[in-house]
Amino acid sequence: MLPDVGLPGSYEGYFFDSAYLRKIYNFKLKWIMSEIIEKRNGDTAPPENRPDDNVIQPFQLDSSSLRGRVIRLGGVLEEILGAHDYPEPVAHLVAETVTLALLLSSMLKYEGIFTLQTKGDGPVSMLVADVTSSGAVRGCASFDTERLAHASQQLSALEPVESAQNHLAQYLGKGYIAFTVDREGAAERYQGIVELRGASLIDCVQHYFTQSEQIGTGIKMAVGRRAGKWRAGGIMLQNVPEDDGYGDKVMGNTHEDDWRRSMILMGSCTEDEFLDADIHSNALLVRLFHEEGVRVFEPCFVHKSCRCNQGKVDNIIAMMGHDELIEAAEDGRISMRCEFCSQEYNFDLDTIFKERAKSGTSADTSA
Ligand SMILES: [Zn+2]
Repeated sequence: MLPDVGLPGSYEGYFFDSAYLRKIYNFKLKWIMSEIIEKRNGDTAPPENRPDDNVIQPFQLDSSSLRGRVIRLGGVLEEILGAHDYPEPVAHLVAETVTLALLLSSMLKYEGIFTLQTKGDGPVSMLVADVTSSGAVRGCASFDTERLAHASQQLSALEPVESAQNHLAQYLGKGYIAFTVDREGAAERYQGIVELRGASLIDCVQHYFTQSEQIGTGIKMAVGRRAGKWRAGGIMLQNVPEDDGYGDKVMGNTHEDDWRRSMILMGSCTEDEFLDADIHSNALLVRLFHEEGVRVFEPCFVHKSCRCNQGKVDNIIAMMGHDELIEAAEDGRISMRCEFCSQEYNFDLDTIFKERAKSGTSADTSA
């Protein structure tokens, strides 16, 4: 098997090194979370006629100072999933991972790449989505076709639900979900990890926030097809730390009652409301929170983009030895496919060897 060009080696096995796990289990991400900065560009609502798709809309509830995000995805999911022929449950899980990664990344201040990744012993062994600070997102999954079919068959008796339940245990098994920030130009990466548990990815993420005692977080989200096309919608509400005036960050002083009431209002949003492209996110916010006084900030638009390119693949080929190349080739050709976007990269074995001989960089030291 060739190394896949989409996933750098660092993703694989990164959080199964037990010494490393212990080290980072102290939620290094806390450090970053405490630096959350809202992008406030005044309280003017964007023009009503802007396309309300593939967008993250920050907002604040004036009654309680709770902050949140609404996300609406359409074309981005179609593009990501259109590059694959994933079975329905896998496509659904990838769409959820992408939506969650975007929601979570939108609350962090970072220059670089935010990655949300699961790794488990179930039929879907890995889910990954990453988001650059400029809003480029991609996602993919690794799964075992046979085991997946078996799990799907067992679950077929159950009603499919677009939100809340995605049979995490059956599809993902036991494992972890990791949040990673690779900051541009920084050697150190920041990572938080939590066990896969609960019925859904949302449960895991909320468990992470509860366990790390950082920020009260509530998420509701739906993923599904409308008119044959994938769509996702979600809301995240957070009780974020505030500056106490002495330079220290303290937990938000939202009253328990305000928090509960807002969570109930958020929870009342239906799957259809989340997924209906005709309901503008501002209209949705007003519908849910009009009594709380809802204020919106500058929206952030996201797009699908993959960072694989010919240069990266050339580097992988350059690092492979003579025998490795021969083993990887089929009919004199080496073919690599990006796991994220399915882009194929092809190489001719003779050409590689000729070029190596010409530049004297043959990996075959015995020659
Ligand atoms: Zn790619």
